[in-house]
Amino acid sequence: MENEELQQWIEQVSLDHFGVPFTHEALFNRRLTTTGGRYMLKSHRIEINPHQLEVYGREEVEKIIKHELCHYHLHIRGRGYQHRDPEFKALLQKVGGSRFCQSLPDGKGRKPLPYRYKLVCKSCGTEYLRKRKVDPKRYRCGRCAGKLLLREI
Ligand SMILES: [Zn+2]
Ligand SMILES: [Zn+2]
Repeated sequence: MENEELQQWIEQVSLDHFGVPFTHEALFNRRLTTTGGRYMLKSHRIEINPHQLEVYGREEVEKIIKHELCHYHLHIRGRGYQHRDPEFKALLQKVGGSRFCQSLPDGKGRKPLPYRYKLVCKSCGTEYLRKRKVDPKRYRCGRCAGKLLLREI
């Protein structure tokens, strides 16, 4: 798909789902690695990661487009356009956009996160590696159902 087709696609999604035109530039950016798309505050440009289309297909990319259009339309109108803003959340839900600027799966344009934590079973000592910090109280040992401790590696 070429940039021109992406531009028309985003303009159409904007009219169909937001009822207002998208009047700025949209393009594919091959250098985006960890996000599916982004909205540029200064230029009002929307950039889409072309790998997303290859990996997830049109339906998912349309959700990313809706997500970026939520940033765009709210920002242009001087409303709360950031992820934490209630207006952003409400609009995103209304149009059915993806919840996050979606990340690509590991291995495709993205470095996998290293393991930085481990859950250790207090009873049998089994260790479970974790990439992110988790609350050990929410989990039990898979082997003996014992209580777990969180340790940094
Ligand atoms: Zn976003
Ligand atoms: Zn155990």
